[in-house]
Amino acid sequence: MLGPMTKLFHDAIYDPDRPLDSHWEASAGPMVEGCDPVDGDLTCDVAIIGGGFTGLSAALHLARDDQLSVRVIEAVAPGWGASGRNGGHCCFGGAGLDPTEIEEAFGEEVARANINTQREAIDLVEDLAVSNKLDIDIQGRGELCVAHSARAMEELRGETAMWKRLGGFDCEMISADAFRERAFDAPNVSGGMVFPFGFGVHPLKYARELARLAQRHGATIHGNSPVTGWKREGGRHRLITAGGSVTADKVLIATNGFTRDELHPAVDGCLLPVISEIVATRPLTDEELARHKYQVEMPLYDKRSMFAYFRVLPNKRLHIGGAGGMTGTPASKERWRSFLTKRAHTIFPEWKDAEIEYCWRGFVCLTRDHLTHLGEVPDDPGVFYSLAYHGNGVAMATWSGRAIAGVISGRHNRAIPATMTQPLKPFPLPALRKLRIYRRYGGRMMRTMLGMD
Ligand SMILES: Cc1cc2nc3c(=O)[nH]c(=O)nc-3n(C[C@H](O)[C@H](O)[C@H](O)COP(=O)(O)OP(=O)(O)OC[C@H]3O[C@@H](n4cnc5c(N)ncnc54)[C@H](O)[C@@H]3O)c2cc1C
Repeated sequence: MLGPMTKLFHDAIYDPDRPLDSHWEASAGPMVEGCDPVDGDLTCDVAIIGGGFTGLSAALHLARDDQLSVRVIEAVAPGWGASGRNGGHCCFGGAGLDPTEIEEAFGEEVARANINTQREAIDLVEDLAVSNKLDIDIQGRGELCVAHSARAMEELRGETAMWKRLGGFDCEMISADAFRERAFDAPNVSGGMVFPFGFGVHPLKYARELARLAQRHGATIHGNSPVTGWKREGGRHRLITAGGSVTADKVLIATNGFTRDELHPAVDGCLLPVISEIVATRPLTDEELARHKYQVEMPLYDKRSMFAYFRVLPNKRLHIGGAGGMTGTPASKERWRSFLTKRAHTIFPEWKDAEIEYCWRGFVCLTRDHLTHLGEVPDDPGVFYSLAYHGNGVAMATWSGRAIAGVISGRHNRAIPATMTQPLKPFPLPALRKLRIYRRYGGRMMRTMLGMD
């Protein structure tokens, strides 16, 4: 059996029986059928631990493209982790470094390859959705960054030049007047930048549709089956759950921010989960939307504040997410709920009367070098991982699930950027790794909370 679970946060955030209070859960429709817990001693070619975008995408591609027998072993239900709780911005991202930092560390070619991967990742989600008629509420085209000062506009001009130089594509800078015409009218908006790629989705619908698609192609998904033990039997791996076991030739670790340190030495102390929280208002009336002349469909993020991303959903609820605190206690959830509510009112003062009806949170996942990691464990053949999308995994976890499926089946038919194949290393003093959040984001978090950004 695995040793006692290392928990960096309060028990409440790990508890599957505690209601999430997520708007996505309330609107996603039926659960995925046929996700029976592991019962008895089962076998397969590839066992996948974790039923989020990574695990489900890997399962789909292994079952559909390689005809391997695949079992996804999920602690709760498909999409229960970050995949069913996020902002649903299917956009650029994956590493916690910007392209110029990647260029500095790995050179221009790798930075370009990394950018291409992010474009491919968005295309992959769209292609899966369109060609399989997935019902995932795609909304908008592109992504809009809002600037609240001349300095922020200047920074965005620099970003636009960087995307042109390294990515070869144009972002569109828009003035304050054009912003009001095309997006919304609110105080202190200095303009923005339209990024040409991305769209919004209903993330829990997407996770469930991906699970159904994987099932249709032959993958088996087991819910309510946390893996609590891992044994080697000959050259095979036996994963233990309460109801039985799954023995497989190969195992993929796809547990991201919910990974237990004890699951495997390759991940022990290597991942830093960070809480992100989201609030959603009641549906806004047409009259309320008109007060801010709100007319933009694409997802938005705010240059001024810590991780603030938002959009008005197709059902007219304002949805705004951001940082979510350091402890995970129920009391801290309430504090961040009121912080995000104030944030919403600062951006949209005319919507002060729109009550918050949902508030939920989950883990984004960081690594020591701020990079996504995927590959085979060097000293344990047959064990693979794909982890850490730094808060941007809707597209990138889908892409990485497909990429690691290619590595597992031996069909290396797609290039994987060198940023993703670096060795996964533990944090120094892993018990204290949470302090890294302060070190990297503390100043910005403090400025955001004090309203100084
Ligand atoms: C609040 C929030 C907002 C976000 N917003 C965005 C956004 O707008 N856009 C974007 O691109 N990304 C966003 N992200 C990040 C994105 O959700 C993640 O990067 C992505 O979902 C990771 O997918 P995954 O499959 O790797 O992990 P997860 O979806 O977290 O899945 C891991 C699964 O592993 C399971 N598991 C863990 N341990 C075990 C075990 N021992 N046995 C069995 N199962 C186990 C868990 O139950 C979980 O379901 C956000 C994340 C959060 C939390």
